[in-house]
Amino acid sequence: MKLLFEISKEGHGNSLLAKPDVPEATLSEKASRGIPLPLPQLSETELGRHYTGLMKRTFGVNDGFYPLGSCTMKYNPRLNEDMASLAGFGNIHPLQPEHTVQGCLEVIRETEQALCEISGMDAFTFQPAAGAHGEFAGVMLVKAYHKSRGDAKRTKIIVPDAAHGTNPASATMAGFTVVNIPSAADGCVDIERLRQAVGDDTAGLMLTNPNTLGLFDKNILEITKIVHGAGGLNYYDGANLNAIMGIARPGDMGFDVIHINLHKTFSTPHGGGGPGSGPVGCKDFLRDFLPVYQVVEKDGGGLGFANPDRTIGSVKAFYGHFLVVVRALTYIKTLGAEGIRRAAIHAVLNANYMRTKLSDCYEVAYGGLCMHEFVLTLQKIKDRWGVSALDVAKALLENGMHPPTMYFPLIVHEALMIEPTETESKETMDEAIAVFKKIYKEIEANPEKLHEMPLSTPVRRLDEVAAARNPRLRYV
Ligand SMILES: *Cc1c(COP(=O)(O)O)cnc(C)c1O
Repeated sequence: MKLLFEISKEGHGNSLLAKPDVPEATLSEKASRGIPLPLPQLSETELGRHYTGLMKRTFGVNDGFYPLGSCTMKYNPRLNEDMASLAGFGNIHPLQPEHTVQGCLEVIRETEQALCEISGMDAFTFQPAAGAHGEFAGVMLVKAYHKSRGDAKRTKIIVPDAAHGTNPASATMAGFTVVNIPSAADGCVDIERLRQAVGDDTAGLMLTNPNTLGLFDKNILEITKIVHGAGGLNYYDGANLNAIMGIARPGDMGFDVIHINLHKTFSTPHGGGGPGSGPVGCKDFLRDFLPVYQVVEKDGGGLGFANPDRTIGSVKAFYGHFLVVVRALTYIKTLGAEGIRRAAIHAVLNANYMRTKLSDCYEVAYGGLCMHEFVLTLQKIKDRWGVSALDVAKALLENGMHPPTMYFPLIVHEALMIEPTETESKETMDEAIAVFKKIYKEIEANPEKLHEMPLSTPVRRLDEVAAARNPRLRYV
């Protein structure tokens, strides 16, 4: 496919920019550009065809089954988009006077109340732009808390090895030393190792729950008790709350801080770099440290922004990705308390349905009931037939399905992590199961063929290492 720059033809361009409705200002010579901006010149038709062409070459939730474990590629109701495109939400400016955006402030406050009810926390900030960003902000709260008590020796954050990879990264960025503890044979936190790891240098624990194996830690109450007992705080990675929302609340399990990915759990289109939102919730005793711009009731009536007394400061410009918050509130209000709970039940039911059906052919890494996702290990298939998780992923693409997450979590060899999500029907899952089984038969009959996959996608196998090491991000 040609790039826009290659299609460009002198004279095809027409300015689509509306005439300014404010007086034009002239830039000083120093500030203005010496040579014209080399933008491609294209007609609207050419531009439309280019992007439609690109769209046809990608795979999205509207194309088919997309069981990308941990990423939750569930259906995002169009109604959310309608709400986010209302002029009163979309056409505002962050510096507008508060009294002109009362409805928007109300959206933030209502979403905060809903998330508090769902998570068992007392306050939220919506500044963080994504999950990992939320983790960073959340861990900074832990840091500010210990500092405020003059407890300087708490420099370590404990992270179990079944945590999401962003957990140790965020803790490190916040200036902590990460103490990694291995999982027990059942995939849950090894309680004895946790007991040995905690001490008066423990700032806290970051727990991904359900963990990256798709398991709900059965010892969760004991875990939070051990950490609190040592004087540390408990951080809940709730990026993916799909399995527990409406059913169990981290705030009731002994957690002090949580982040939630609105773009995974509360339905916002994501992938391809679209905006996300990783609100951070905390218990009352940490409220004072939250980032700037909390929505509060003003003395004279109405809502406004206020900065918490001992705020950790700003982690993002203005108030975060507000339109993602609008989508989340739309989703929460559409489903209602009962609908949220049903969504969780179906997310877990769907994952267990697929897990059980696939376990005839593929080995499930850790047995027993899973939550919203589960992990297969193809190590034995690789040993016997030389077919890897990557080969199977490519064969799935050939069969019109997006592959699951591959080679994650790192503690499982030849991993495929499957999350069907609650919005898929039994028929769709049955089709996907049939594809997985057909591929398994092909592996047995003709393993070499699997290395050739995919055959009919716009591109076949790419050099992923070269793409990561030497990305070509510029045309010239
Ligand atoms: C996706 C995810 C994250 C990171 O969220 P981003 O929005 O991608 O930064 C963190 N933890 C878990 C468990 C996740 O699934």
